[in-house]
Amino acid sequence: MHNDILKQPTPVFPFIPEKRTYLLSEYPAFLNWTKLVIIAPMLTPVRLTPSQIENKLDRILLKVQKPGRYVGGELNSVVKNWDSVKTTVAFVFPDIYDIGVSNVGLKILYDQVNQREDALAERAYAPWLDMEALMREHEIPLYTLESKRPLASFDLIGFSLPYETLYTNTLNVLDLAGIPVRSADRDETHPIIIAGGHSTMNPEPMHAFIDAFVIGEGEEVIHEIIDTIMSLRPSGSNLIVNEQIASPPTVSRNDILKELAKLHGVYVPRFYETYYLEDGTVSHTEPTIPDIPKVITKRIVPILPPPPTRFIVPNIDVVHNRVSVEIMRGCTRGCRFCHAGMITRPVRERSVDEIIQAAEDAIKYSGFEDLSLLSLSSSDYTDILELVTKVSEKFDGKNLNIGLPSLRIESVSIDLMEKLKQSGRSSGFTLAPEAATERMRRIINKFIPDEEILNTTREIYRRGWTTIKLYFMIGHPSETLEDVQAIADLCKRVIAEGRKVIGMKAKLNAGVSTFVPKSQTPFQWVSCDTPEQIKAKQALLRRELGRDRNIKLSLTKAEDSFLEAWLSRGDRRMAEVVYSAWKNGSKFDAWDEGKKYGAWIQAFEEQGLDPLFYTHRQRRTDEVFPWEHITAAVRKNFLFQDFRQSLEGQIRVDCRLNCFACGILPTFANMRRENPGDVWKCPDVKSPAHSKQLLVTSNQLPIVGD
Ligand code: SF4
Repeated sequence: MHNDILKQPTPVFPFIPEKRTYLLSEYPAFLNWTKLVIIAPMLTPVRLTPSQIENKLDRILLKVQKPGRYVGGELNSVVKNWDSVKTTVAFVFPDIYDIGVSNVGLKILYDQVNQREDALAERAYAPWLDMEALMREHEIPLYTLESKRPLASFDLIGFSLPYETLYTNTLNVLDLAGIPVRSADRDETHPIIIAGGHSTMNPEPMHAFIDAFVIGEGEEVIHEIIDTIMSLRPSGSNLIVNEQIASPPTVSRNDILKELAKLHGVYVPRFYETYYLEDGTVSHTEPTIPDIPKVITKRIVPILPPPPTRFIVPNIDVVHNRVSVEIMRGCTRGCRFCHAGMITRPVRERSVDEIIQAAEDAIKYSGFEDLSLLSLSSSDYTDILELVTKVSEKFDGKNLNIGLPSLRIESVSIDLMEKLKQSGRSSGFTLAPEAATERMRRIINKFIPDEEILNTTREIYRRGWTTIKLYFMIGHPSETLEDVQAIADLCKRVIAEGRKVIGMKAKLNAGVSTFVPKSQTPFQWVSCDTPEQIKAKQALLRRELGRDRNIKLSLTKAEDSFLEAWLSRGDRRMAEVVYSAWKNGSKFDAWDEGKKYGAWIQAFEEQGLDPLFYTHRQRRTDEVFPWEHITAAVRKNFLFQDFRQSLEGQIRVDCRLNCFACGILPTFANMRRENPGDVWKCPDVKSPAHSKQLLVTSNQLPIVGD
């Protein structure tokens, strides 16, 4: 019976508002209700001195897994004299050290701040469960690795939030630092807490905990934030000397935040109010004080600043022991499911020479043997062949493993593959078709014919790679079981091609995740697949691919997708759910050892909210999204037109070939005019008149579905 239902496409049009009321008891039966763990509040002296912290650490470090996570002293870490600077910043990646130490975004900001003479930046990560328990037991507040000072001693704490499953950890980190988790509970002696990263394009589920969000790119605005704090807050405001605050603040916390709210690209949620309609959807969000923007537009940098070259070299084995050089930012392909592709426009490239120099310096300073040339779509980098050729020549014979992630299937040239392999040890080859039928590929705007996939994968096997990893997604709008069957069929055809070339040595890893419709994308109007749909689609894939021992199938758990959907699509009310879930013991939500799905369901119940309201509800086209006062400068009207085109199976070409006036150019017209030529991949803006012509207001969105 399920199969018959699932053969029907998920209805996506017209938009009929959901009338049904969901009860918590209807929520998927497969949910695991796990034991709830209540967190002991941090009652410790949070302003211990570095030597007090070190003494306490000496007593516990040998009792934890990987003590090297907690000691610092790594090559290329920057330790500055606190007396020589005016403002101190702690950057926090709220996951374990092994993941966070390689985060490129945080590395960029760490470098930016430490280049200043009047400020310093240090780092902290979330301690793993064993270390956290001992820190709480021994009353050790969370501290930075460089100076061993407690986080509470800093003027500014910056969280990196690239994904939503870090939210409960963020609360946990604040608590472990002895800092009130709610913004409203902090006073003048507490650090200002900011956050940035892709997930903050919808900041509302975290609005109660973060003082100010950085929307968009941080390289420039971090300096403006530091300058503002430096001008309003005396140095050492948080330092305790002889049990007294060293320099009591003279400007109130609220006034500092008011000044931050005036900075372009900074969102201070306490100065905005959200109103709701009777059906629970958002009516509007508006500022409550004058002189701050109604809509916060993301920041971008006109030209990518020089990439960091002094990478931290961990003393322990971590997930990515490598140098990463960002070769370009943004993507012009317009895949409709892709959050990163929509929010990081416009495309800006670095020159080949700059990349080579940065790679050479970074390898020299770190000794790493892996180099990753980062971007969202590496093979779209204009001079990719020249880049790979020069990198290969430069590092010839040095046994350097060069990774080029996110290669597009249709533009992988034989030369490129060959050079990548010649340059050193060979890594696996990863391609992301995402869907396997022509219909679905048109819907998601990632059109690659099967023949091209088969030709490319055959060639990869022929050139000596034995394992290919293919990424797919299930749950795209209007997907049927036939579309999922096609994923299994394509995998079988790929491995069959591999066997023709290298026999039973050919291996295929198929990673199939479940699509979550993200904010600020053309699919922001659609519903997630239901648990039953996900279950049936995953069962089909297991049935079809599970018998071939050379095919390894990885599937995302449905619960993980729902958690991601709640947090990426939620409104302000979700903040209380995040708080309750954390109080109920959920943390490390990306880790099996930490997450407690039952704690989330319990949290929804405690807050009287329906989880299905956020996941399994198609949005009306006139619905105001919770994130509507935040913009990535890609207009809602453009996103909606793109969504409509997807329903009609129309694809949009690479916007380097044809600009679709997505909104980037009118928003950043002056910046583009001042940086003409090939710096950006958007068309030149020659006069103010051109930018005016492109400007389309968001209220031109057609209304359907009433
Ligand atoms: S302005 Fe045009 S070229 Fe630039 S990102 Fe938008 S659609 Fe692409």
